[in-house]
Amino acid sequence: MIPSNIPSSPSSEQWADWRWHMRHRIRSEEALRDWLEPTADESAAIEATKGVFQWSITPYYASLMDPVDPTCAIRRQVVPLTDELLPDGIGLEDPLEEVANSPVKNLIHNYGDRVAFCVTSQCAIYCRYCLRKRMVGEAEFMMRKDELREAIAYIAAHPEIRDVLLTGGDPLTLGEANIDWLLTELRAIDHVDIIRIGSRMPVKLPQRITPELCAVLEKHHPVWVNTHFNHPKELTAEAGAAIDRLLRAGVPVGNQTVLLKGINDDVGTMRALCEGLVRMRIRPYYLYQAQLIGGTEHLRTPIEIGMRIMAALQGTLTGFAIPRYILDTPYGKVPLTRDYILGRTPEGVAMKTTRGEIWVEANPAPEDGALPEVTLPFFGSAL
Ligand SMILES: *Cc1c(COP(=O)(O)O)cnc(C)c1O
Ligand code: SF4
Repeated sequence: MIPSNIPSSPSSEQWADWRWHMRHRIRSEEALRDWLEPTADESAAIEATKGVFQWSITPYYASLMDPVDPTCAIRRQVVPLTDELLPDGIGLEDPLEEVANSPVKNLIHNYGDRVAFCVTSQCAIYCRYCLRKRMVGEAEFMMRKDELREAIAYIAAHPEIRDVLLTGGDPLTLGEANIDWLLTELRAIDHVDIIRIGSRMPVKLPQRITPELCAVLEKHHPVWVNTHFNHPKELTAEAGAAIDRLLRAGVPVGNQTVLLKGINDDVGTMRALCEGLVRMRIRPYYLYQAQLIGGTEHLRTPIEIGMRIMAALQGTLTGFAIPRYILDTPYGKVPLTRDYILGRTPEGVAMKTTRGEIWVEANPAPEDGALPEVTLPFFGSAL
């Protein structure tokens, strides 16, 4: 179904063709004006961010934007605001020191058994909050074939690597032949168990998940896909059909969300997103705390708010619909969880339940390193 708000009236064949969407991406204020009347700030930001940050929107994703409401969660993810250029004292290109951890170009080996392999710097749309905001779309971070080979050789030479995460940019901007080549090379390495692809295509251009692509992925199992829905409005019938194609090809699909101020940082939105994801048989995996990236301060939510959202979901939502709330640091990922465990009493391990009651679980203490002792306020009463 072609949405009714498409300015250029494509045929249904064109609308179903991901390359048509790639060619017809919005990249100028003039093109955006076919869809909506930009606010003065959006208009100024499009001009002012030129040459600083990449910008493009696929017609499919643009069709989800609210033409009237500038606070629309879809619009906020893809239309720039002048806040991106505020001096925020951060300006970090690489807050996780990923480049420092790159033994070869675009390969990040920060965890012993896993590597993140940035196979391309291209994306179909450029999200305003992107972790790699200054790198995506840049020629400097593109990979030539010999550079890809060099990264593959590194993986082959390191038997401890059993999990290869293909990321970018967006790996699914590559064509089937290149994806097939990459997966074939990686599969030829004995110690590589699982291959994961991190892609936002099911969200921003679900037409990309073609039967041909699924056939390629299916040849190289186990291949997992982690996608990146941030808002329930993104859970369209077309996205659902793309996910169904992946699942039918035997690809387990997970989701990583970024907590974004004014976009999804409230319990109602996050609950609707998680419920909608599992309805599509997507497993919510991580909820990322937005990182200190220059140009994204206006989208960052206090960690306390994220913890409150998680506390509200815990115990009131299907267990596997609840993602883990994570902060990525130069020293690895840290789960941002409330401490449920209080410590030891003579009776066992004391904890605060998600409903706020105290529970003491009778449990033997280990000889070394028992939890610190706590005195409970209501100890001895009706616990
Ligand atoms: C997040 C990340 C991974 C994957 O971590 P998981 O917790 O296994 O999903 C791998 N490499 C790098 C550099 C990462 O940042
Ligand atoms: S799709 Fe991913 S890598 Fe590309 S701009 Fe969006 S967040 Fe960044």
